[in-house]
Amino acid sequence: MTVLLGCIADDFTGGTDLAGMLVKAGMRTVQLIGVPQGPPPADVDAVVIALKSRTNAPEEAVAESLAALAWLQQAGCKQFYFKYCSTFDSTPCGNIGHVAEALMRALDTDFTIACPAFPANGRTIYKGNLFVGDVPLAESGMRDHPLTPMTDSNLVRVLQQQVQAKVGLADFSVVEKGAAAIAQRFTDLRGQGCHFAVVDAVSNRDLEAIGAACADLKLITGGSGIALGLPQNFRQRGQLAPSPAGQAGRLPPPTGLRAVISGSCSVATQQQVAHLRELAPSFHVDPLQLAAGGEVVDAVVAQALAWADEHLAQGPVLIYATATPDAVRAVQAQLGVERAGALVEETLAAIAQGLVRLGVGQLIVAGGETSGAVVKALGVAGLRIGPEIDPGVPWTQALPAPGDDGMAPLALALKSGNFGTVDFFSKGWQVLA
Ligand code: ADP
Repeated sequence: MTVLLGCIADDFTGGTDLAGMLVKAGMRTVQLIGVPQGPPPADVDAVVIALKSRTNAPEEAVAESLAALAWLQQAGCKQFYFKYCSTFDSTPCGNIGHVAEALMRALDTDFTIACPAFPANGRTIYKGNLFVGDVPLAESGMRDHPLTPMTDSNLVRVLQQQVQAKVGLADFSVVEKGAAAIAQRFTDLRGQGCHFAVVDAVSNRDLEAIGAACADLKLITGGSGIALGLPQNFRQRGQLAPSPAGQAGRLPPPTGLRAVISGSCSVATQQQVAHLRELAPSFHVDPLQLAAGGEVVDAVVAQALAWADEHLAQGPVLIYATATPDAVRAVQAQLGVERAGALVEETLAAIAQGLVRLGVGQLIVAGGETSGAVVKALGVAGLRIGPEIDPGVPWTQALPAPGDDGMAPLALALKSGNFGTVDFFSKGWQVLA
């Protein structure tokens, strides 16, 4: 079977969010990091290509997205999905609209939707206005976002500023009537010369109806919520096998030793690290020891690995740089913010490589940037998405780049900042067992 749904996400964690949603809805999904090389992995229903195109120059975002699209077309995808943030994060220069229009041109299609609604996370759209919890987008914290400040809640207006084509609205009075009425509204809007429809949605029921109404659209754009209704379209056409609950997220049985690496200093991670320190042996990486770089970093890595070698056989180990805000500030005052971050990331990534050489096959990494550094050091080109530990954080199977046969089997969980409950790490091992 070929890949059915080809997705392009404008950032990494957004990609994981969408991939997890598709797995829950019954599609076997792989997330690939950057524009892939080589053929698609076997046995997948959906591929999510995670780019970093949210805030770069529109021309770059468009070029990268088109390269990703070309690969997905080559993989035989039947429908395409451009995933952005549920708060419609865009810079004053755009990107969402520019990328969507470029994808439409490349796909030779003249109509798509824009629906970032994710009611389960408090993102709803009514009369074209996006709400974050109880307040309109422009009154939410997104108003002051350092990179993508959102100062207008009306998505029809926001999108219209980013595209040349006309933007219309499929509002709640239509959406509540269900899939057939929504599809009819799309036809009407098209007749009025609209190439985009912002679609209202306040519940999962709405998302499912919108999904059904999008069965024949070549391109869909939205947050991860709208993915909820898509697998059913493929099932109805006999392209996707009905899958019992949890089946799409099945990973090969885990092998190897267990470790946690934490470079996140977010509040939730601090609590999680403190919790795990009560249960498992731990090794603290002190950034100030790393200040000289080079051989000093090598020595700390060697020390951490020698320590891990002694403990790994008895159960999971924790290696962490996680510290309180005061401690982080003190380190940053001495080393500089960027240098401190880079030194810790480099050290933890080298430790991850060493742990894998020591036989670690089940690894949890805490921290978004830290995860990025670890994934790069390990040569991971993609992630097959498995069962969820906590919302937004699934177990995954690391996939090597095509032609790289040397990678040992590795189950990987990448947790960014404030995700997960206090017992996240021990829960992680239970989910995998
Ligand atoms: P989060 O997802 O919580 O934001 P990240 O890994 O993205 O975590 O970012 C944390 C940053 O802080 C990384 O660059 C990491 O290297 C750095 N860091 C970790 N521990 C310390 C520390 N003790 N002092 C200074 N910086 C640190």
